[in-house]
Amino acid sequence: MIGKCFLTLILKKPAQEVVFSRKKQSQSHPTISLNNVHVERASQQKHLGIILDEKLNFKQHVDNAILKINKGISVIKKLCHTLPRKSLLTILYKAFLRPLIDYGDIIYDQPNNETFCEKLKSVQYKAALAITGAIQGTSREKIYQELGLESLKNRRWYKRLCCMFKIINEEAPKYLVNLLPKSNQTIVTRNSNIPAFYCRTDCFKYSFFPSTLRDWFNLNDYIKNSESIAVFKKRLLSNIRPIKNNIYNIFDPIGLKLLTRLRLGFSHLNEHRFRHNFQDCLNPLCTCSLETEDTIHYLLHCLHFSQHRFDLINSVKSVSNNFESYSDNDKRNILLYGDSRFESVLKK
Ligand SMILES: [Zn+2]
Repeated sequence: MIGKCFLTLILKKPAQEVVFSRKKQSQSHPTISLNNVHVERASQQKHLGIILDEKLNFKQHVDNAILKINKGISVIKKLCHTLPRKSLLTILYKAFLRPLIDYGDIIYDQPNNETFCEKLKSVQYKAALAITGAIQGTSREKIYQELGLESLKNRRWYKRLCCMFKIINEEAPKYLVNLLPKSNQTIVTRNSNIPAFYCRTDCFKYSFFPSTLRDWFNLNDYIKNSESIAVFKKRLLSNIRPIKNNIYNIFDPIGLKLLTRLRLGFSHLNEHRFRHNFQDCLNPLCTCSLETEDTIHYLLHCLHFSQHRFDLINSVKSVSNNFESYSDNDKRNILLYGDSRFESVLKK
């Protein structure tokens, strides 16, 4: 039954009906029966893996995905002690957990769904914390950079545009291609002009076709005119996916966790804890002197670790003779991130 305000679908056996309506007050709706069997009213239905609720706001679908992902994050937390490489944990997240968020996201990615899109954002952040062992409160951008993860908002933007690329280039099913606004000119090339949608309501304006077409118009011609979907994806990703920091195949879960915390600028050093308002940290100074206990102090000057530092610097000198001549900042960067130039020296 299709009406102006609502649409009823009968989806399952025993038959159930869901009345879809965006109106705040529920509409009176006659009960229906099939072969004298009463059709039950339901508030939601799962169809092709997507939970359709009667308001079509997909809140239930997202909540359900978050529940499953949280279970997966608990598994990552356990595995991080036995799986040495954080790149392996990232692969696990990308292969088994992120698809739960990805599924159907181009449909519900709308400005009026900001609230639960925020919830999803915090789920990816929690997963990133579990993978790296970083402390809660670490900068989201830094941790995504460390792992080479794009934000979920950018990812949804990317996925919507990939879908639109296929539709415009008629690589998508006909029933999607036919939904593009019609112009006098038939769409035959990638450069053809596509008219914008006329949107009378915000609900339609923010839905997939009008909003994605607006994003499409904002892309530069170099990206829009990509010769294939693979090239298009590569060009889009280069704008949103950070290049991850190298961990040089190190097999040391605890060492890597501590190194990552230093890289992210949030470890148990006093300067980091003081900056993040830890109540038991009254000043950023180190107990060895009156110097601030930041990353440079810890790696290069702290009196508590003189012998450790002597051994460390000696091993670095074996691949870089002029290490001592570098500035403190350069030394810190080499100790935290390594240097690809050393790899060729080590291979000799
Ligand atoms: Zn010190």
